[in-house]
Parts: sequence; structure tokens; C-alpha cells
Amino acid sequence: MALIVQKYGGTSVGSPERIKHVAQRVARFVAEGHKVVVVVSAMSGETNRLLALAREVAPSPDPRELDVMVSTGEQVTIALVSMALMQLGVKARSYTGGQVRILTDSAFTKARITNIDDANIRGDLDAGFVVVVAGFQGVDEQGNITTLGRGGSDTTGVALAAALAADECQIYTDVDGVYTTDPRIVPEARRLRTVTFEEMLEMASLGSKVLQIRSVEFAGKYKVRLRVLSSFEEGGEGTLITFEEDANMEKAVISGIAFNRDEAKITLLGVPDRPGIAYQILGPIGDANIDVDMIVQNVSHDGLTDFSFTVHRNDYQKAMQILKSVDAHIKSRGVVGDDKIAKVSVVGVGMRSHAGIASTAFRTLAEEGINIQMISTSEIKISIVIDEKYMELAVRVLHRSFQLDQPSA
Ligand code: ADP
Ligand code: ASP
Ligand code: MG
Repeated sequence: MALIVQKYGGTSVGSPERIKHVAQRVARFVAEGHKVVVVVSAMSGETNRLLALAREVAPSPDPRELDVMVSTGEQVTIALVSMALMQLGVKARSYTGGQVRILTDSAFTKARITNIDDANIRGDLDAGFVVVVAGFQGVDEQGNITTLGRGGSDTTGVALAAALAADECQIYTDVDGVYTTDPRIVPEARRLRTVTFEEMLEMASLGSKVLQIRSVEFAGKYKVRLRVLSSFEEGGEGTLITFEEDANMEKAVISGIAFNRDEAKITLLGVPDRPGIAYQILGPIGDANIDVDMIVQNVSHDGLTDFSFTVHRNDYQKAMQILKSVDAHIKSRGVVGDDKIAKVSVVGVGMRSHAGIASTAFRTLAEEGINIQMISTSEIKISIVIDEKYMELAVRVLHRSFQLDQPSA
């Protein structure tokens, strides 16, 4: 008998039929003697609908009120799933995040889980109930409803699995695992049987939204056995997120290609090249709580250099404004920005032991005439900023050139 946390995403609970289907799967696990905690998302489209509704009333809604509203989507699903389970004769009980007491900080719309009180859940599991928990939400110390950021139900699932020391956390979604890249963009993408935590962390943070990044961080920190599976198919093994030691030694050098259009690039031209200048530029950006991702400073000519960096697109306008006053202050030669960029990243732990990955990536893009605007690397990834109109092409050609469409050895 195992204790399993199963998380079902929006599409997997997107209609009454899908919810009945989920209930049948859960019932099978119960019949096999397992204890099951189910975590659910809002029905597909519901979170977007609620967010759009708020913006019809207020262009930038108050974050606390937004969380009060947007958390209702998951509350509907927990009740429906519990009802469907009861229809099958399975004892079930639903809980909102606040009812479990999933405690978070007070950062509305992007709260972090700080503690989980597992007493209610354990009591119910011991009494033979399936416990159905609303994903994506919690409460802060004052009892305010909070939400965990888009895709946050994954994090609820993994955090519960960690708190309960579950045997496995299963993330059921509309694809049958983690692929070499988003199969919606590259139909030849292949499912990975395993992927390491490190790789998954990079892929999630670089744009593969199959798992919310914080869920992967949790899984790594608390050593949660995490698997991504299809809720539409039976019997698949999905993708297991492993620690490197366990991984298949024959693994390909590159595991996947991630991409996103979330960033914008800002360049300060003709910056005096002297100590302290990077701080003068990025200090005010940090003070405004804006995260900076990639940074490039060029070699100087005649004591002047160009300084570029990227920020999230949501922070672009604010960052541009700040930079205009920095420009005036440090007497540089103007600010230019571009929010039509994309970041494409090649990820794989095999990069550590293989040379030439970067040059293959650069050659591949050159052959397609795609200009590289910025590059950043870590031990296991290369990220490249390009014009967003070439993003899909870049992903496709890189996928092919690293032979990710071929079955691995
Ligand atoms: P859910 O609603 O179940 O949480 P999401 O839409 O958040 O589902 O995540 C699943 C989607 O992630 C897939 O439909 C797929 O388009 C996308 N995706 C992006 N990158 C990958 C990848 N590398 N492997 C699998 N799916 C990916
Ligand atoms: N319903 C939330 C969202 O759409 C959380 C989730 O689905 O994970 O982002
Ligand atoms: Mg998701």
C-alpha cells in the first residue's frame, strides 16, 4: 500500500466527463489499496476567465482581491471531484487551501508556501477517505487567501507530497510526460523516460510550462519522487524526474529545448566604462524590485561601452523609465529597448562532459540566418536571445540538429 498524491491540471478536469474520468482513475488506485490525495486545478479556461473579468472592472486589480476571486476556480473543482468519487462509492472529502491550512507568505498572486498542517489530511486518510485539495491556493498568517502564481497547483501537489512523505507525486496533464521540447511547437518531439531534477529545473525556469518551477524546486529539496503522466491515457509510465546518479548512463548529451517570450531587452548606449557603472545602472532596477536575467557588457571603445540586460516583459515599461533617469545621470548616449525578443535554451547535463555544444547551436542558427542578440551559459544550458519572430524556427532547427527527434541510444 502506498500513499500517492495525484495532481490533475485544468484540461484533465475541464468538463464533467473529464472529472468523472479522474474519479474513476482515483477509484482504481483506492481499490488497489493505496491512500490517495488528489490536488486539482480550476477547470480549463476558468482562471483566465476570472482574471479577464477582474480587468473589466479594474485595469490593475488589487492583488488581495484578485486572489480572493481567482482561488474560486479550484474550489469548484474539488467539490465536483469529491461528488464524482462519492458517486462511485468512494469516500471523499474536499479541502480548500485554507481548510487544510496551507500556510503561505502574504505575497498575493505569487505567494510561497511556508508550512502545511497535515493533521486533517492524515486523519481523513486513516479513516479511509480520499482527500481532494484545491491547488494553487493557501492562506497567510492573517487568514487572507493567497495564490501561488500561474501553474501553482503543481507546487501544491509536490508540497503536499513532501509534507505527507508520499511515495510518489503524480502530475497528470494533457501530455504523457516531459518532452524534448513543447510537442505543440515541434510535433517530432519525444517523451523523455527520465529527466534529472537539474535539467527539469532549467527547463521549467527557461519556459517549459509543463511543471511550475517551484514544484521542481520543492521536489529537489525534499526528494519527492515526481512523475509526469497523461490523464488521457492509461498505463503509460510518463516521465520520472530523477537524481543524476539514477539516470540512464546512455542518456543523450542534450535533453531538451526550452523557450519563452517573457522577456524584454534594454540597452544603455555609450556608457562610460569605469568601476561602479554596472551598479549605477542595475542598482535602481533592483531597488524597484525588478529581476534582471541576462546581462551583456561589450568591450569599450574610447572609454565607452554598451550595456544590455533583460527583464520580464511585465516590468519593461517601468525599467525603461528608470533607465531614462539613469541615462541622464551617468551621461550615457541614450536608452533603446526591444520587447519583441525570445529566449531559446538548449538544456542537458551531458554538456558538462561534451565540448562543442555551443558551436553546434550557433552554426545551426547561422545556417537559418537567425541573428543572435545575447548569449548566456551555465554548466548545463545555453540560452540565446533572438528576434521573437524566429523563435519557432529556431526551436525546430535546434531540435533537429541535436537529433532530439531520434530515439536515444
Ligand atoms: P496542466 O493544465 O495540466 O497543468 P499545462 O498546460 O500547465 O497543463 O502544461 C502542459 C503543457 O505544457 C503541454 O500541453 C505542453 O504544450 C506544454 N509543454 C511545454 N514544454 C513541454 C515539454 N518540454 N514537455 C511536455 N509538455 C510541454
Ligand atoms: N488554475 C491555476 C492556473 O491556471 C493554477 C494551475 O492550473 O496550476 O494557473
Ligand atoms: Mg500547469
